[in-house]
Amino acid sequence: MRVLQVSSEATPFAKTGGLADVAGALPDSLGRAGCDCTLVVPAYREVFEKNLPIQKTNIQFSVPVGKRTLEAIVYSCSLPNQNHKVFLVGNKHCFDRDTLYGGAEDYTDNAERFIFFSRAVMELAARQPDPFDIIHCHDWQTSLVPAYQKLLYKSWPTLSEARSILTIHNVGYQGMFWHWDMLLTGFHWKYFNWRQLEFYGQLNMLKAGIVFADQITTVSPTYAKEIQAAPGGCGLEGVLQERASDLTGIVNGIDTKLWNPKADEFIPCHYGIDNVQDGKYAARVALAARLGHAAPDERPLLAFVGRLAEQKGVSLVIDLLHRMAGSGMARFVVLGAGDPQFQESLKIVSSQYPEAIDVVIGFDEVLAHLIQAAADILLMPSQYEPCGLAQLYAFRYGTIPIVRATGGLVDTVVNVSDQTCADGTASGFVFDAFEPATLEAAVRQAIDAHRNTKLWQELIRCVMQQDWSWDVSARKYQEVYSQALANAPVDVVDVR
Ligand code: ADP
Repeated sequence: MRVLQVSSEATPFAKTGGLADVAGALPDSLGRAGCDCTLVVPAYREVFEKNLPIQKTNIQFSVPVGKRTLEAIVYSCSLPNQNHKVFLVGNKHCFDRDTLYGGAEDYTDNAERFIFFSRAVMELAARQPDPFDIIHCHDWQTSLVPAYQKLLYKSWPTLSEARSILTIHNVGYQGMFWHWDMLLTGFHWKYFNWRQLEFYGQLNMLKAGIVFADQITTVSPTYAKEIQAAPGGCGLEGVLQERASDLTGIVNGIDTKLWNPKADEFIPCHYGIDNVQDGKYAARVALAARLGHAAPDERPLLAFVGRLAEQKGVSLVIDLLHRMAGSGMARFVVLGAGDPQFQESLKIVSSQYPEAIDVVIGFDEVLAHLIQAAADILLMPSQYEPCGLAQLYAFRYGTIPIVRATGGLVDTVVNVSDQTCADGTASGFVFDAFEPATLEAAVRQAIDAHRNTKLWQELIRCVMQQDWSWDVSARKYQEVYSQALANAPVDVVDVR
C-alpha cells in the first residue's frame, strides 16, 4: 500500500505539540508494517537549523495561490534507520519565519501559507512516478487536501484512485478565515455553501476536510464520541454526526525510541522497572541542579508539562498552586509556554512560594524528558483532551498521572480503586468535575497513596509494563485505509 502522509509539523523537523509526535512516528511505524510511506512537511526555517541531513532535490514547480504563483522547492531527508521517505516543501515567503504559525497572534496570512502547502503537496504527489493509494492529512492546516484531490486533481493518474483520510487532532482549531480567502484556494464559489466550505460566513478548512475526506479519524474513541455533540464538536458536531459511520477513534501511540528511560539521552541515569528508584532519584538531582537548587527535597514532586492554554486546565493548576503550595505536602514544577496571562500568573505564584514551586516558561524538549523522569505525579486536569501524550510518556517513566475524565484520558488512564489495584489495572487518579476542589481532592488522594510505598511501587510497576507503542495504533490505521479502499470514494454533492 502506498501512503502519503501530509502534516504541518513532525518530529524531528518542527514541533509545537502532539501532532508533531504523531506525524513523526506514524509513517515510520507504517513503514515497518510494510507500507510504502512518504511524509511531506513544510520546510520551515527551523528545520534547516537542526543539523539534519536535508538535501535539495531537483523537483521544483509553481503553485497557483489566487492570482499569484508561488515557487515550491522540494527537499528530502533520510535519517538513519528510517522506514519511510520524507519530502519538505519550501518557499521563503511562506516558511522562512521565526515560528510555525505566529506568536501571541497567528500570522495574518496563515490561510495563504497552508493553501500553498496543501496545493503544493498535490502538485508533488501528481509528479511522483507511482500512484498513491492513500493520502492521509492531519488537522486544519492540511484539510484542504481531500477537497483538492476531489475537485481539482481528480484527473491526474497518480491521484485519481487514491482515498483521502483526515485525522482530527483537535477540533478546537479549525482554520477559519474570512470568505475572501476562498479566492486563494482556486475552488469555484459554488463550494462556499453551508454543506461544504462555508461556516457562518467564513471559510472553514477543517470542515472542508470533514466533508471531502473518504474516512475520518480522531485520536481516541471517547473523543470521537465527544466531538459529535456540543460543546465537544466546537460547532462542527452536526457535520461530524453526518460522517459518523466513517469516523473512527484511534489512540495515539508513542515513539518508544525517543521516550524510553532505558536509553533517553536527556536523563542522567537510564532505568527500567528494576532500578526505577535509582533512575528517578538521579533525575531528581539533575532537575534540582537545572532549576538552581542545591539538592532535591523529600516531598513528592508533582509536574505539569504542556501548552499554557485553558484547554489544558492551566487555570485549575494555578488555583491548585495557591491552595496547596503553602501546605508543605508537595513540591511542584511547571514547564509550559502559551497564554501570556497564564505565564504571568504562574510567575507570580512561584515567586510567592519559591520553596515549593518552580516555573519554567518556554518550550524545552530536554527539560520535558527530565521532568517526566524526575516527577512522581503528572498533572493533566484538561478541560478537554483529544488523546494526550504526556500521560503515556509518564507511564513509561514510572510517573503516575492525575487526569480529568475526558477524551483520550478516559481511554488510557484507569482510576486507582480497591478493585483496579487488586486486578493490577490501576494506572492513575481520575477526577470528573472541572473544578479546583475536585482536582485538589485527587491530588490529596495521590499524595496519600504515595506515602504507601508498597502500593506506589505496584502502581509504578503496572504503568511501566504497559505497551503504548505505535505498532498497535498503526495496525488500526491500516484497517481504516483498507476500509477506505474497499468503499467507493465519497461523492461530491452539488449543493444548489
Ligand atoms: P497537545 O498536542 O494538545 O499540545 P499532547 O499531550 O498531545 O498535547 O502533546 C504535547 C507534547 O508537547 C508532548 O510531547 C509534550 O511533552 C510536549 N510539550 C508541551 N509543552 C512543552 C514545553 N513547554 N516544553 C517541552 N515540551 C512540551
